[in-house]
Amino acid sequence: MSTPIARVALDTPLNRLFDYLAADATPADIGRRVEVPFGTRHRIGVLVELADQSEQPAGNLKAVRAIDRATPPLPDELLHLARLAAGYYQHPLGAVLASLLPPALRRSGAGIRVPAATAWRLTELGRDQCARLPARAQAQLALADRFGAGALTRDQLDPRDLVRVRDWLRQGWLEAVTTTRASHGDEAGPPALTGEQQAVLAELREPPPGFSAFLLHGVTGSGKTEVYLRRVADVLEQGRQALVLVPEIHLTPQLTERFARRFPDRLLIGLHSNLADGERRAAWLDALEGRADIVLGTRLAVFTPLPRLGLIVVDEEHDGAYKQMEGMRYSARDVAVWRARERGVPILLGSATPSLESWRNAGTGRYRLLRLNERAHADASLPEIRLIDSRADRPRQGLTATLLAGLRARLERGEQSLIFINRRGYAPTLLCNGCGHVFACPRCSAHLVLHRERGGYRLVCHHCGLTARPPEACPECGNLDLRPAGQGTQRVEETLAEHFPDARVLRIDRDTAARKGAFAAMRERVEAREVDILVGTQIVAKGHDFPHLTLVGVIGADQALVSPDFRATERLFAQLMQVAGRAGRAEHAGEVLIQTAYPGHPLYQALRRHDYPGFAEAALRERQGAGFPPFTSQALLRAEAREEDRALGFLTAAREAGLGLDRNVLLFDPVAALMARVAHQHRLQLLIQADHRRNLREFLRDWRPLLETLPARGVRWSLDVDPTDY
Ligand code: ADP
Ligand code: ZN
Repeated sequence: MSTPIARVALDTPLNRLFDYLAADATPADIGRRVEVPFGTRHRIGVLVELADQSEQPAGNLKAVRAIDRATPPLPDELLHLARLAAGYYQHPLGAVLASLLPPALRRSGAGIRVPAATAWRLTELGRDQCARLPARAQAQLALADRFGAGALTRDQLDPRDLVRVRDWLRQGWLEAVTTTRASHGDEAGPPALTGEQQAVLAELREPPPGFSAFLLHGVTGSGKTEVYLRRVADVLEQGRQALVLVPEIHLTPQLTERFARRFPDRLLIGLHSNLADGERRAAWLDALEGRADIVLGTRLAVFTPLPRLGLIVVDEEHDGAYKQMEGMRYSARDVAVWRARERGVPILLGSATPSLESWRNAGTGRYRLLRLNERAHADASLPEIRLIDSRADRPRQGLTATLLAGLRARLERGEQSLIFINRRGYAPTLLCNGCGHVFACPRCSAHLVLHRERGGYRLVCHHCGLTARPPEACPECGNLDLRPAGQGTQRVEETLAEHFPDARVLRIDRDTAARKGAFAAMRERVEAREVDILVGTQIVAKGHDFPHLTLVGVIGADQALVSPDFRATERLFAQLMQVAGRAGRAEHAGEVLIQTAYPGHPLYQALRRHDYPGFAEAALRERQGAGFPPFTSQALLRAEAREEDRALGFLTAAREAGLGLDRNVLLFDPVAALMARVAHQHRLQLLIQADHRRNLREFLRDWRPLLETLPARGVRWSLDVDPTDY
């Protein structure tokens, strides 16, 4: 008998497997991590096949150095899913497998480390001691209070809290839980379902076991999450695992808390990229070894090994964050649907504004459509949406008189308001009042954004990070009259402070929420009514409950109506629906005021009626007329180079090679990307479009190997299947 050959997937740009001698390998080792010599180093790969012989001459083969038999192998199902993804996205299998392993298991030679905890809870001793804290230990008492309500995750704690956590751990007041178990459940028990929720659940429970796909379209606050909880309860009851995907890390703490309270005896793990390596590894192993009952995570969690998987839920399924923008550019929502089909389990996609792709799938019967049209709380109704014509009511410093009056009324009543503006910084540009010169980034095709920093100003490029001090005079004409043009969150914050000097204004954008724990801390301040007016970008729009918020003002939304990106209006509609949904979540009626120069625009009119279906039907008709997705399938070959000619040369050759295959796909001319230059790199792209997905897939399968043979010196290229940005 000859020595078995291990075929190993390695994380390289080459789309092939590598053969090694593996004397002691057996079929039970398929899916295990192996360490192999590669070039002058050692690498971690995954053993995906065993063979009797290799195409390589036997003398050239090296031996596998080690097989990791301490970790369970990747299950067949996951290997299969990785193959599907590799084929669909035209990405090397080794790279796909590497990206689905937690980083700690990807590195060669990384010893097994004790996992840091994901969360902590009070011990008996801790409860005792906390009860005895003196009244002056305010900060400690506040923390004790929070722990009293259940386990807290690292995300929920700010750095000062974490120092205290360390002390308390040493004193035995806290114990680590790598998983979240609420210390107590919902005292009141789950709410009685509304009629609509009952009807939806009955339909969800109707199909026989096996794959079924549902699209749950429910207005904000209609109780979609309650529906997820009930379905998860069903599968837990059957002894199976549930996978729940959310678009944003920021959304995980609130939802984790809700799930943990509902299922206090179950093991719930959170998976997202903010976890420390050890935590991520521990959580992943809990899932793989079948201990975890519920996995709640962001897009990367779609690849979590789950031997007892019984249900997949994708919350806010329309959200752009489900699309990975580098490496393998996959859509976690789409992968989730394939996974459900392959595993023969139901999948539930939920949203107040489904993606047009999913809406169409519901229209053609591929998904079953379920609706929740009313808010779940008996006395909560949908907010009234009003359009302020900014041509008549001229904004000053970005704010119209109507909006200011609305804010004043809320302040007088002690209610909260939110100003939504999707631009961070002070002003989108700095402008010379003499000659109209605009300050552009020298490295990118973008304007520099004016930011306020410690009393002064800085110009910042949002694409390459370049920062510069604003000059005293215009470099073109020498004029000293340089003015900020337009509004950003910082400027709105400043203007509000001028109008309402006594109001407590809080700005939430990427600049203020970047620090770990900062977002949770800000949310708590809002909940504790320590804030009167919130100014925020889209990060506040998503799924957070602010019960005392009764007014949402939207400024600067018109921008998206003139965007060259055909998906911009779909995004805008979803964003505005979502931000509108922040108003009046509980007993208080909400109002939404949108400042626009185009109050008659069909998008705003549909929004005013809360008419997602109306918007979606019109948008789909437009897409169909223009031959855009979801009526066609697209892929984008991107190329980036310091010299534009090189990128263009590569794409031109790629197009030639593609035409030579003579397939039923359309190859457009190479053009500049919407962001044509970033950090001195020119970005060009070639769009491929097909009427049928299968034609595109077959074309890409044959085209991709040709791309690897083209001269590409100085060019970085990548393929993006189903692109969402152009
Ligand atoms: P969605 O996920 O659709 O935005 P949620 O599930 O978060 O909605 O529900 C919105 C609010 O209504 C929450 O405060 C939730 O606790 C409450 N809620 C949900 N279902 C019910 C119900 N059947 N009875 C009473 N309140 C409910
Ligand atoms: Zn730049």
